[in-house]
Amino acid sequence: MRIHRVFLPDLRAGERVLSAAESKHLLQVLRVTAGTPVRAFDGAGLEAAGQVTDTSGLRVTVMLDPPEASPVEASLAVHAAVGVLKGDKLADVIRQLTELGAVNMHLFYSQHGDVNKTSPNKLERWQRVAKEAAKQSGRSVVPCVHAPVKLKDVPLEALSIVAHPYAKQTLAECVTPGDAKTITILTGPEGGFSEAEITALEARGVKSVRLGARILRAETAPVALCAALLLPGAL
Ligand code: SAH
Repeated sequence: MRIHRVFLPDLRAGERVLSAAESKHLLQVLRVTAGTPVRAFDGAGLEAAGQVTDTSGLRVTVMLDPPEASPVEASLAVHAAVGVLKGDKLADVIRQLTELGAVNMHLFYSQHGDVNKTSPNKLERWQRVAKEAAKQSGRSVVPCVHAPVKLKDVPLEALSIVAHPYAKQTLAECVTPGDAKTITILTGPEGGFSEAEITALEARGVKSVRLGARILRAETAPVALCAALLLPGAL
């Protein structure tokens, strides 16, 4: 049986009352009863087994075991920085990056991007997409989807790479598995990066990598790069 996953920040052992939204979902959609097993996760890497103890009233109460580190989180923390794309293409990108195991999403506006503003509603929707995808794929980390910033303001990890079709080096030449615990991967919008942007990123220590000899769409590149980093070593 698939165990229902419930989101519960500030995870601790013992009896806990779930939020109104989580309770409503469990009661009305999943129709849980006392004794139904659940797995609570805090969105930051911890999870705890437990069971429903009370469903009277509008809130569900659960009894939880001591929380433990999630066994499904990858040993490499991938921070994905993605150029803001047209329409709703980012929703799919965010969903797929979450399924693959990325821990953080930075969105950026850049010279050849066609979009330069984002409504608060859209950002909230993307955050919801990440939360739902994390839940469905059994993760205990909900990647944070940050509000878009200018490319020059994207935070970088000590190891950061930018995907650029005209780069000289391949991924295998730039990144040795096991070398780092965290990495930032940057991929451009539909119009790609300008040479000035690549030069500025390289000046900040970012390495340019080529992902094969074929041009990938802006929504394919971040997903392919994240998969290439996270899947070969199993975690
Ligand atoms: N016409 C654009 C292509 C943009 S594709 C250009 O000439 O740059 C959108 C983004 O996907 C790129 O900015 C890059 O980050 C990534 N990308 C696509 N294909 C790639 C490849 N073969 N190697 C590296 N990055 C690639």
